Amino acid sequence: MRYAEMNRDELGILYSELKNKYNGICKKNLSLDLSRGKPGREQLDMLTGMLDCISTGEDCIGEGGVDYRNYGLLEGIPEAKRLFADLLSIPEENIFVAGNSSLNLMYDTVARAMLYGVLGSEKPWCRYDRVKFICPAPGYDRHFGICESLGIEMITVPMTPTGPDMDEVERIAASDESVKGIWCCPKYSNPDGITYSDETVKRLAKMPTAAGDFRIFWDNAYAVHDLYDDRGDVLDDIFEECLRHGNVDRVFYFASTSKISFPGSGVAILAVSRRNFEQIRPILSAQTIGFDKINQIRHVKYFGSAENIRAHMRELAQIIRPKFEIVKVTLARELAEADIASWTDPAGGYFISLYTLDGCARRTYELCRNAGVRLTEAGATYPYRRDPRDRNIRIAPTYPENAELQTAMDVLCLCVRLASVEKLLKD
Ligand code: PLP
Repeated sequence: MRYAEMNRDELGILYSELKNKYNGICKKNLSLDLSRGKPGREQLDMLTGMLDCISTGEDCIGEGGVDYRNYGLLEGIPEAKRLFADLLSIPEENIFVAGNSSLNLMYDTVARAMLYGVLGSEKPWCRYDRVKFICPAPGYDRHFGICESLGIEMITVPMTPTGPDMDEVERIAASDESVKGIWCCPKYSNPDGITYSDETVKRLAKMPTAAGDFRIFWDNAYAVHDLYDDRGDVLDDIFEECLRHGNVDRVFYFASTSKISFPGSGVAILAVSRRNFEQIRPILSAQTIGFDKINQIRHVKYFGSAENIRAHMRELAQIIRPKFEIVKVTLARELAEADIASWTDPAGGYFISLYTLDGCARRTYELCRNAGVRLTEAGATYPYRRDPRDRNIRIAPTYPENAELQTAMDVLCLCVRLASVEKLLKD
Protein backbone atom coordinates (compact mmCIF):
# COMPACT_ATOMS: atom_id res chain seq x y z
CA MET A 1 0.00 0.00 0.00
CA ARG A 2 1.22 3.54 -0.73
CA TYR A 3 2.37 5.11 2.51
CA ALA A 4 0.87 8.44 1.46
CA GLU A 5 -2.60 6.84 1.51
CA MET A 6 -2.30 5.48 5.06
CA ASN A 7 -4.12 7.18 7.91
CA ARG A 8 -2.34 8.11 11.13
CA ASP A 9 -3.34 4.92 12.98
CA GLU A 10 -2.02 2.75 10.19
CA LEU A 11 1.18 4.76 10.05
CA GLY A 12 1.56 4.45 13.84
CA ILE A 13 1.27 0.67 13.72
CA LEU A 14 3.72 0.50 10.80
CA TYR A 15 6.15 2.75 12.67
CA SER A 16 6.21 0.41 15.69
CA GLU A 17 6.79 -2.63 13.47
CA LEU A 18 9.63 -0.97 11.57
CA LYS A 19 11.19 0.45 14.73
CA ASN A 20 11.23 -2.98 16.39
CA LYS A 21 12.88 -4.48 13.37
CA TYR A 22 15.39 -1.63 13.26
CA ASN A 23 16.26 -1.99 16.94
CA GLY A 24 16.91 -5.69 16.34
CA ILE A 25 19.30 -4.89 13.50
CA CYS A 26 21.16 -2.30 15.58
CA LYS A 27 21.98 -5.04 18.08
CA LYS A 28 23.77 -7.06 15.41
CA ASN A 29 26.79 -4.70 15.32
CA LEU A 30 26.98 -4.72 11.53
CA SER A 31 29.86 -3.01 9.77
CA LEU A 32 29.07 -2.63 6.07
CA ASP A 33 30.16 -0.02 3.55
CA LEU A 34 28.23 1.26 0.52
CA SER A 35 29.95 4.61 0.59
CA ARG A 36 32.67 4.75 -2.04
CA GLY A 37 32.98 3.52 -5.61
CA LYS A 38 35.75 1.02 -5.05
CA PRO A 39 36.23 -2.27 -6.91
CA GLY A 40 35.71 -5.37 -4.82
CA ARG A 41 38.41 -7.93 -4.10
CA GLU A 42 37.24 -10.26 -6.88
CA GLN A 43 37.70 -7.51 -9.45
CA LEU A 44 41.21 -6.74 -8.23
CA ASP A 45 42.14 -10.42 -8.19
CA MET A 46 41.35 -10.60 -11.90
CA LEU A 47 44.37 -8.38 -12.49
CA THR A 48 46.96 -10.36 -10.56
CA GLY A 49 48.91 -10.90 -13.79
CA MET A 50 49.53 -7.19 -13.93
CA LEU A 51 51.71 -7.36 -10.85
CA ASP A 52 54.44 -9.39 -12.52
CA CYS A 53 54.12 -8.61 -16.22
CA ILE A 54 57.08 -6.29 -15.71
CA SER A 55 59.88 -8.22 -14.08
CA THR A 56 63.14 -7.46 -15.91
CA GLY A 57 64.96 -4.37 -17.10
CA GLU A 58 64.32 -5.56 -20.66
CA ASP A 59 60.55 -5.22 -20.04
CA CYS A 60 61.10 -1.51 -19.50
CA ILE A 61 62.83 -0.81 -22.80
CA GLY A 62 60.35 0.91 -25.05
CA GLU A 63 60.10 2.04 -28.62
CA GLY A 64 63.36 3.25 -30.09
CA GLY A 65 65.27 1.63 -27.22
CA VAL A 66 64.23 4.22 -24.63
CA ASP A 67 64.69 2.99 -21.07
CA TYR A 68 61.48 3.71 -19.17
CA ARG A 69 63.24 3.16 -15.86
CA ASN A 70 64.85 6.54 -16.34
CA TYR A 71 63.73 10.19 -16.45
CA GLY A 72 62.00 11.63 -19.50
CA LEU A 73 58.91 11.73 -21.68
CA LEU A 74 56.76 14.27 -19.87
CA GLU A 75 53.82 13.56 -22.19
CA GLY A 76 53.86 9.85 -21.43
CA ILE A 77 55.30 6.90 -23.32
CA PRO A 78 54.24 6.64 -26.96
CA GLU A 79 52.88 3.09 -26.52
CA ALA A 80 50.48 4.30 -23.80
CA LYS A 81 49.49 7.38 -25.76
CA ARG A 82 48.58 5.13 -28.68
CA LEU A 83 46.65 2.71 -26.45
CA PHE A 84 44.48 5.45 -24.93
CA ALA A 85 44.12 7.27 -28.24
CA ASP A 86 42.67 4.08 -29.61
CA LEU A 87 40.49 3.36 -26.56
CA LEU A 88 39.02 6.86 -26.33
CA SER A 89 39.11 7.83 -30.03
CA ILE A 90 41.27 10.88 -29.40
CA PRO A 91 44.37 11.67 -31.51
CA GLU A 92 47.64 10.67 -29.80
CA GLU A 93 49.12 14.13 -30.13
CA ASN A 94 46.39 15.53 -27.89
CA ILE A 95 47.06 13.18 -24.99
CA PHE A 96 49.21 13.44 -21.88
CA VAL A 97 49.48 10.07 -20.15
CA ALA A 98 50.25 11.09 -16.61
CA GLY A 99 50.30 9.67 -13.11
CA ASN A 100 48.08 7.51 -11.01
CA SER A 101 44.94 9.64 -10.65
CA SER A 102 42.67 11.73 -12.85
CA LEU A 103 41.41 13.59 -9.79
CA ASN A 104 44.98 14.71 -9.24
CA LEU A 105 45.11 15.92 -12.88
CA MET A 106 41.80 17.75 -12.45
CA TYR A 107 42.98 19.45 -9.28
CA ASP A 108 46.25 20.44 -10.97
CA THR A 109 44.42 21.68 -14.06
CA VAL A 110 42.16 23.95 -12.01
CA ALA A 111 45.06 25.04 -9.79
CA ARG A 112 47.14 25.81 -12.90
CA ALA A 113 44.31 27.94 -14.26
CA MET A 114 44.15 29.77 -10.94
CA LEU A 115 47.91 30.38 -10.92
CA TYR A 116 48.61 31.02 -14.60
CA GLY A 117 45.28 31.24 -16.38
CA VAL A 118 44.45 29.07 -19.38
CA LEU A 119 45.13 29.74 -23.05
CA GLY A 120 43.40 33.03 -23.83
CA SER A 121 43.09 34.23 -20.23
CA GLU A 122 43.79 37.90 -19.62
CA LYS A 123 45.23 37.05 -16.23
CA PRO A 124 45.48 34.15 -13.79
CA TRP A 125 42.02 33.20 -12.57
CA CYS A 126 43.02 33.88 -8.96
CA ARG A 127 43.40 37.58 -9.85
CA TYR A 128 39.71 37.89 -10.55
CA ASP A 129 37.50 38.96 -7.63
CA ARG A 130 35.40 35.89 -8.14
CA VAL A 131 35.69 32.69 -10.12
CA LYS A 132 32.61 30.53 -10.53
CA PHE A 133 31.99 27.04 -11.86
CA ILE A 134 28.72 25.55 -13.01
CA CYS A 135 28.17 22.35 -11.05
CA PRO A 136 25.51 19.99 -12.37
CA ALA A 137 24.07 18.21 -9.34
CA PRO A 138 23.80 15.61 -8.07
CA GLY A 139 27.42 15.16 -9.08
CA TYR A 140 30.82 13.90 -7.95
CA ASP A 141 31.61 15.20 -4.47
CA ARG A 142 35.33 15.53 -5.16
CA HIS A 143 34.75 17.92 -8.08
CA PHE A 144 32.98 20.15 -5.60
CA GLY A 145 35.82 19.59 -3.13
CA ILE A 146 38.33 21.00 -5.65
CA CYS A 147 36.23 24.16 -6.03
CA GLU A 148 35.81 24.57 -2.29
CA SER A 149 39.49 24.03 -1.67
CA LEU A 150 40.53 26.63 -4.28
CA GLY A 151 37.87 29.21 -3.38
CA ILE A 152 35.80 28.79 -6.54
CA GLU A 153 32.12 29.63 -6.15
CA MET A 154 29.79 26.85 -7.21
CA ILE A 155 26.54 27.40 -9.06
CA THR A 156 24.26 24.40 -8.82
CA VAL A 157 22.40 23.35 -11.95
CA PRO A 158 20.01 20.40 -11.82
CA MET A 159 20.72 17.20 -13.71
CA THR A 160 18.02 15.91 -16.04
CA PRO A 161 17.80 12.49 -17.74
CA THR A 162 19.76 13.95 -20.69
CA GLY A 163 22.50 15.71 -18.70
CA PRO A 164 22.62 19.12 -17.02
CA ASP A 165 19.64 21.44 -17.52
CA MET A 166 21.09 23.10 -20.62
CA ASP A 167 18.73 26.10 -20.61
CA GLU A 168 20.18 26.99 -17.21
CA VAL A 169 23.78 26.20 -18.22
CA GLU A 170 23.52 28.37 -21.35
CA ARG A 171 21.90 31.22 -19.45
CA ILE A 172 24.55 31.24 -16.71
CA ALA A 173 27.54 30.76 -19.03
CA ALA A 174 26.39 33.56 -21.33
CA SER A 175 25.51 36.08 -18.68
CA ASP A 176 28.42 36.11 -16.23
CA GLU A 177 32.07 36.46 -17.22
CA SER A 178 33.23 35.22 -13.83
CA VAL A 179 31.82 31.81 -14.77
CA LYS A 180 34.95 30.06 -16.01
CA GLY A 181 34.04 26.42 -16.09
CA ILE A 182 31.64 23.54 -15.79
CA TRP A 183 32.18 20.10 -14.26
CA CYS A 184 30.85 17.26 -16.39
CA CYS A 185 30.85 13.52 -15.79
CA PRO A 186 29.26 12.87 -19.17
CA LYS A 187 28.96 9.09 -19.30
CA TYR A 188 27.34 6.99 -16.59
CA SER A 189 27.52 10.07 -14.38
CA ASN A 190 28.42 9.88 -10.74
CA PRO A 191 25.96 9.35 -9.06
CA ASP A 192 22.93 9.12 -11.42
CA GLY A 193 24.46 6.96 -14.16
CA ILE A 194 23.17 9.37 -16.80
CA THR A 195 24.86 9.73 -20.19
CA TYR A 196 24.62 13.14 -21.80
CA SER A 197 22.46 13.17 -24.91
CA ASP A 198 23.93 14.20 -28.27
CA GLU A 199 21.96 17.41 -28.03
CA THR A 200 23.45 18.23 -24.61
CA VAL A 201 26.99 17.64 -25.90
CA LYS A 202 26.32 19.83 -28.96
CA ARG A 203 24.87 22.64 -26.85
CA LEU A 204 27.86 22.56 -24.50
CA ALA A 205 30.19 22.70 -27.48
CA LYS A 206 28.56 25.64 -29.17
CA MET A 207 27.04 27.75 -26.39
CA PRO A 208 28.21 31.36 -26.19
CA THR A 209 30.14 32.09 -22.99
CA ALA A 210 30.70 35.49 -21.42
CA ALA A 211 34.19 34.40 -20.36
CA GLY A 212 36.50 34.06 -23.38
CA ASP A 213 38.53 31.48 -21.45
CA PHE A 214 35.64 29.26 -20.34
CA ARG A 215 36.50 25.55 -19.99
CA ILE A 216 34.51 22.32 -19.87
CA PHE A 217 36.08 19.91 -17.37
CA TRP A 218 35.05 16.68 -19.08
CA ASP A 219 35.65 13.91 -16.58
CA ASN A 220 35.00 10.80 -18.63
CA ALA A 221 35.78 8.48 -15.72
CA TYR A 222 33.35 5.79 -16.92
CA ALA A 223 34.09 5.92 -20.66
CA VAL A 224 34.30 2.15 -21.17
CA HIS A 225 32.40 0.94 -18.12
CA ASP A 226 29.34 -0.68 -19.68
CA LEU A 227 27.48 -3.24 -17.58
CA TYR A 228 25.26 -4.85 -20.20
CA ASP A 229 26.16 -6.14 -23.65
CA ASP A 230 22.82 -5.11 -25.11
CA ARG A 231 22.24 -1.63 -23.67
CA GLY A 232 25.45 0.40 -23.54
CA ASP A 233 25.15 4.18 -23.81
CA VAL A 234 27.00 6.04 -26.56
CA LEU A 235 28.46 9.45 -25.81
CA ASP A 236 28.89 12.02 -28.53
CA ASP A 237 32.46 13.19 -29.26
CA ILE A 238 32.97 16.47 -27.42
CA PHE A 239 36.18 17.34 -29.29
CA GLU A 240 34.52 16.88 -32.66
CA GLU A 241 31.53 18.98 -31.63
CA CYS A 242 33.75 21.75 -30.23
CA LEU A 243 35.89 21.69 -33.36
CA ARG A 244 32.77 22.01 -35.52
CA HIS A 245 31.72 25.12 -33.61
CA GLY A 246 35.16 26.74 -33.48
CA ASN A 247 35.63 26.00 -29.78
CA VAL A 248 38.16 23.18 -29.75
CA ASP A 249 40.17 24.85 -26.97
CA ARG A 250 37.14 24.69 -24.68
CA VAL A 251 37.65 21.10 -23.48
CA PHE A 252 39.87 19.63 -20.78
CA TYR A 253 39.23 15.89 -21.04
CA PHE A 254 40.15 13.48 -18.23
CA ALA A 255 40.08 9.70 -17.89
CA SER A 256 41.90 7.02 -15.96
CA THR A 257 42.26 3.28 -15.53
CA SER A 258 41.25 3.48 -11.87
CA LYS A 259 38.17 1.33 -12.48
CA ILE A 260 39.89 -0.68 -15.21
CA SER A 261 43.05 -1.75 -13.39
CA PHE A 262 43.96 -0.65 -9.86
CA PRO A 263 42.47 2.50 -8.27
CA GLY A 264 45.35 4.53 -6.96
CA SER A 265 47.83 2.57 -9.06
CA GLY A 266 46.43 3.03 -12.53
CA VAL A 267 47.27 5.65 -15.13
CA ALA A 268 45.42 8.86 -15.84
CA ILE A 269 45.13 10.90 -19.00
CA LEU A 270 44.53 14.51 -19.88
CA ALA A 271 43.48 15.21 -23.46
CA VAL A 272 43.35 18.76 -24.85
CA SER A 273 43.63 20.68 -28.11
CA ARG A 274 47.17 21.15 -29.43
CA ARG A 275 47.09 24.82 -28.49
CA ASN A 276 46.09 24.00 -24.92
CA PHE A 277 48.77 21.30 -24.96
CA GLU A 278 51.44 23.85 -25.81
CA GLN A 279 50.24 26.17 -23.03
CA ILE A 280 50.18 23.41 -20.43
CA ARG A 281 53.41 21.59 -21.32
CA PRO A 282 55.98 24.13 -20.06
CA ILE A 283 54.09 24.64 -16.81
CA LEU A 284 53.84 20.89 -16.28
CA SER A 285 57.54 20.57 -16.97
CA ALA A 286 58.24 22.94 -14.09
CA GLN A 287 56.21 20.62 -11.90
CA THR A 288 57.66 17.23 -12.87
CA ILE A 289 60.33 15.66 -15.07
CA GLY A 290 57.87 12.95 -15.96
CA PHE A 291 55.29 10.53 -14.60
CA ASP A 292 55.66 6.85 -13.68
CA LYS A 293 56.57 5.28 -17.03
CA ILE A 294 57.11 1.83 -15.56
CA ASN A 295 53.45 1.79 -14.61
CA GLN A 296 52.53 3.04 -18.07
CA ILE A 297 54.45 0.27 -19.82
CA ARG A 298 53.00 -2.22 -17.31
CA HIS A 299 49.52 -1.24 -18.51
CA VAL A 300 50.56 -1.45 -22.16
CA LYS A 301 52.19 -4.86 -21.74
CA TYR A 302 49.33 -6.28 -19.71
CA PHE A 303 46.45 -5.09 -21.89
CA GLY A 304 48.17 -4.96 -25.28
CA SER A 305 45.30 -3.29 -27.09
CA ALA A 306 42.15 -1.23 -26.68
CA GLU A 307 40.15 -4.30 -27.75
CA ASN A 308 41.68 -6.29 -24.88
CA ILE A 309 40.70 -3.53 -22.44
CA ARG A 310 37.13 -3.75 -23.71
CA ALA A 311 37.18 -7.53 -23.28
CA HIS A 312 38.51 -7.08 -19.73
CA MET A 313 35.69 -4.62 -19.00
CA ARG A 314 33.17 -7.22 -20.16
CA GLU A 315 34.67 -9.67 -17.65
CA LEU A 316 34.56 -7.09 -14.87
CA ALA A 317 30.93 -6.39 -15.76
CA GLN A 318 30.10 -10.01 -15.02
CA ILE A 319 31.18 -9.40 -11.43
CA ILE A 320 29.60 -5.96 -11.10
CA ARG A 321 26.27 -6.63 -12.83
CA PRO A 322 24.90 -9.03 -10.19
CA LYS A 323 25.67 -6.40 -7.56
CA PHE A 324 23.65 -3.78 -9.44
CA GLU A 325 20.87 -6.35 -9.76
CA ILE A 326 20.87 -7.00 -5.99
CA VAL A 327 20.45 -3.27 -5.41
CA LYS A 328 17.65 -2.82 -7.95
CA VAL A 329 15.73 -5.98 -7.02
CA THR A 330 15.87 -5.08 -3.31
CA LEU A 331 14.77 -1.50 -3.90
CA ALA A 332 11.86 -2.67 -6.04
CA ARG A 333 10.80 -5.34 -3.56
CA GLU A 334 11.03 -3.14 -0.47
CA LEU A 335 10.10 0.32 -1.68
CA ALA A 336 8.08 0.25 -4.90
CA GLU A 337 4.69 -0.62 -3.43
CA ALA A 338 5.01 1.95 -0.66
CA ASP A 339 5.82 4.55 -3.33
CA ILE A 340 8.35 6.31 -1.14
CA ALA A 341 11.40 6.40 -3.42
CA SER A 342 12.69 6.29 -6.96
CA TRP A 343 16.06 5.20 -8.27
CA THR A 344 18.16 5.13 -11.40
CA ASP A 345 18.81 2.11 -13.61
CA PRO A 346 22.13 2.90 -15.29
CA ALA A 347 23.60 0.79 -18.07
CA GLY A 348 27.11 1.27 -16.70
CA GLY A 349 29.36 3.09 -14.27
CA TYR A 350 29.67 2.55 -10.55
CA PHE A 351 26.59 4.00 -8.90
CA ILE A 352 22.85 3.88 -8.44
CA SER A 353 21.16 7.04 -7.24
CA LEU A 354 18.32 6.68 -4.77
CA TYR A 355 15.79 9.47 -4.28
CA THR A 356 13.78 9.32 -1.06
CA LEU A 357 10.76 11.46 -0.18
CA ASP A 358 11.79 15.09 0.26
CA GLY A 359 13.51 15.66 3.58
CA CYS A 360 14.39 12.00 4.22
CA ALA A 361 17.94 11.49 2.88
CA ARG A 362 19.81 12.84 5.90
CA ARG A 363 17.63 10.90 8.31
CA THR A 364 18.07 7.71 6.26
CA TYR A 365 21.85 8.22 6.31
CA GLU A 366 21.79 8.65 10.09
CA LEU A 367 19.61 5.60 10.66
CA CYS A 368 21.91 3.51 8.44
CA ARG A 369 25.03 4.76 10.19
CA ASN A 370 23.60 3.87 13.60
CA ALA A 371 22.76 0.41 12.27
CA GLY A 372 26.32 -0.13 10.99
CA VAL A 373 25.83 0.62 7.27
CA ARG A 374 27.98 3.40 5.86
CA LEU A 375 26.61 5.42 2.97
CA THR A 376 28.10 8.38 1.13
CA GLU A 377 27.07 11.23 3.39
CA ALA A 378 23.66 12.65 2.47
CA GLY A 379 24.16 15.98 0.71
CA ALA A 380 27.68 15.10 -0.49
CA THR A 381 26.48 14.88 -4.08
CA TYR A 382 25.64 18.62 -4.08
CA PRO A 383 27.83 21.74 -3.91
CA TYR A 384 28.43 22.83 -0.31
CA ARG A 385 26.80 19.51 0.73
CA ARG A 386 23.40 21.16 0.33
CA ASP A 387 20.85 18.89 -1.27
CA PRO A 388 17.98 21.36 -1.67
CA ARG A 389 15.33 18.66 -1.27
CA ASP A 390 17.37 16.42 1.05
CA ARG A 391 16.51 13.31 -0.93
CA ASN A 392 19.54 11.97 -2.84
CA ILE A 393 21.52 8.96 -1.64
CA ARG A 394 24.37 7.53 -3.69
CA ILE A 395 24.62 3.76 -3.61
CA ALA A 396 28.02 2.29 -4.47
CA PRO A 397 27.48 -1.46 -4.78
CA THR A 398 30.85 -2.72 -6.03
CA TYR A 399 32.92 -3.08 -2.87
CA PRO A 400 31.02 -5.47 -0.57
CA GLU A 401 30.65 -9.17 -1.30
CA ASN A 402 27.20 -10.08 -2.61
CA ALA A 403 25.88 -11.45 0.70
CA GLU A 404 27.06 -8.35 2.55
CA LEU A 405 25.60 -6.12 -0.12
CA GLN A 406 22.24 -7.85 0.27
CA THR A 407 22.31 -7.28 4.04
CA ALA A 408 23.32 -3.65 3.58
CA MET A 409 20.52 -3.10 1.06
CA ASP A 410 17.96 -4.70 3.38
CA VAL A 411 19.06 -2.32 6.14
CA LEU A 412 19.05 0.67 3.79
CA CYS A 413 15.51 -0.08 2.61
CA LEU A 414 14.30 -0.51 6.17
CA CYS A 415 15.85 2.86 7.04
CA VAL A 416 14.19 4.54 4.03
CA ARG A 417 10.84 3.12 5.16
CA LEU A 418 11.37 4.22 8.73
CA ALA A 419 12.48 7.73 7.72
CA SER A 420 9.47 8.01 5.39
CA VAL A 421 6.97 6.99 8.09
CA GLU A 422 8.58 9.41 10.56
CA LYS A 423 8.17 12.18 8.00
CA LEU A 424 4.55 11.31 7.18
CA LEU A 425 3.69 11.18 10.88
CA LYS A 426 5.23 14.63 11.35
CA ASP A 427 3.50 16.23 8.33
N1 PLP B 1 35.94 11.05 -11.53
C1 PLP B 1 34.82 10.44 -11.17
C2 PLP B 1 33.52 10.86 -11.77
C3 PLP B 1 34.84 9.43 -10.21
O1 PLP B 1 33.70 8.83 -9.85
C4 PLP B 1 36.07 9.04 -9.64
C5 PLP B 1 36.15 8.01 -8.62
O2 PLP B 1 35.17 7.56 -8.07
C6 PLP B 1 37.23 9.72 -10.06
C7 PLP B 1 37.13 10.71 -11.01
C8 PLP B 1 38.56 9.39 -9.48
O3 PLP B 1 39.40 8.99 -10.47
P1 PLP B 1 40.93 8.73 -10.22
O4 PLP B 1 41.05 7.48 -9.41
O5 PLP B 1 41.47 8.58 -11.60
O6 PLP B 1 41.52 9.89 -9.50
